[in-house]
Amino acid sequence: MTPDAGWFDAMPTQGPLVDTFGRVHSDLRLSVTDRCNLRCSYCMPEEGVRFRPRDEILSFEELTVVARVAKSLGVTSVRLTGGEPLVRKGIVDLLSQVAEIGFADLALTTNGTELGRLANGLAGAGLNRVNVSCDSLRPERFAQIRRRGELGVVLDAMDAAEGAGLRPVKVNVVLIAGLNDDEVLDFAAFSRATGRPVRFIEYMPLDADGLWRRELVVAGRDVLARISSRWPLEPVPAGADAAPAERYRFTDGHGEVGVVTSVTRPFCRTCNRLRITADGALRNCLFSDDEPSVRDVLRGGGSDEDVAVMLRRAVWGKRPGHGIDDPDFLRPRRSMSMIGG
Ligand code: SAM
Ligand code: SF4
Repeated sequence: MTPDAGWFDAMPTQGPLVDTFGRVHSDLRLSVTDRCNLRCSYCMPEEGVRFRPRDEILSFEELTVVARVAKSLGVTSVRLTGGEPLVRKGIVDLLSQVAEIGFADLALTTNGTELGRLANGLAGAGLNRVNVSCDSLRPERFAQIRRRGELGVVLDAMDAAEGAGLRPVKVNVVLIAGLNDDEVLDFAAFSRATGRPVRFIEYMPLDADGLWRRELVVAGRDVLARISSRWPLEPVPAGADAAPAERYRFTDGHGEVGVVTSVTRPFCRTCNRLRITADGALRNCLFSDDEPSVRDVLRGGGSDEDVAVMLRRAVWGKRPGHGIDDPDFLRPRRSMSMIGG
């Protein structure tokens, strides 16, 4: 939905990136590629994926311009994502260019397949921490869900990342009813054994195959109930970072779990995120199809100031929520790997 005429009249031209609801945006998700070496069933189609031509993807220089301008507007944390960020050639160089800008927090979300090989280089280039996606601790099921890749490689990569100092390694688990929700306690035990925070993410209508249904969503509150009936949990006080996960630690001090309840208890009221797709579209919400192109502005000779105005407008145009429960909700045109999770 596009904001009405006059919406932008009161948009501030100075100060932090703020929207009309007072939400200050300090977190930037930079998608560095739409390509991926896996084909997770909740994200990409198994066959026939059409990637963007390379010349449509933002160059390292363009990505760093956006990151630099974002920093000047108060963005303090940046997460590189994709697609699979670690399949982008030269990712360590890109990372060091972004790190040089000087963000308080520089993180990356990965499927872990290339992380073992790259962990030391990434840490040396200035990466602070990683989230590694891993939806099953059973090799065959892992292969079924992700369609490619091996569980053992991903588990080894978590060790390598910790060895390189990329701590904490957080583990992202997308739960799908009837598929992997019988592993909730296994993942809780995994967190207790390794100390790695595990984040259970509710399945969102962002899969390329269009198979999402509400009945497939495993509510975060049910996940917490199941875990706490086995091992007592206590809430971890929310930090200043407005992280979407509701966090809980085990009362005996071993491990931490969290739930990302995007569907059953949306956290839109505290959302502080702005996204850039790999082809340079600004998205103020995962579920918004309004996509002004920073790439076109930059390639048309636009200045830093032009980019700054675009970022301000994107944030100012943000709606109060994603509206998954609204009767007129429409799935976004692009699926998760093309947006950047
Ligand atoms: N390829 C990397 C990875 O898998 O971690 C980074 C990109 S991926 C799009 C980012 C996150 O989005 C992953 O944790 C993934 O599990 C999650 N994700 C993808 N599709 C999703 C969906 N339909 N609902 C909820 N989370 C999803
Ligand atoms: Fe690739 Fe990540 Fe999507 Fe899986 S979730 S298909 S690893 S982008």
